Amino acid sequence: MKCDDCGVEEAAIHLTRIVDGRKSERHLCLTCAAVETGGGGGDIKDVLRAWVEKQKGQPGPEE
Ligand SMILES: [Zn+2]
Repeated sequence: MKCDDCGVEEAAIHLTRIVDGRKSERHLCLTCAAVETGGGGGDIKDVLRAWVEKQKGQPGPEE
């Protein structure tokens, strides 16, 4: 599956959000996922952690 954003790279991350009661799915490559999560193209581990924390809506307890 290609990335929803750039349509060039393979999608590696699948985001699911509920917006106004509607399920919104996005399939993004790592580059676009980094932009989407505000990671700015940093290390993928940081991108994923930022995304997970955003999903939870609070800072992670461990580290
Ligand atoms: Zn992309």
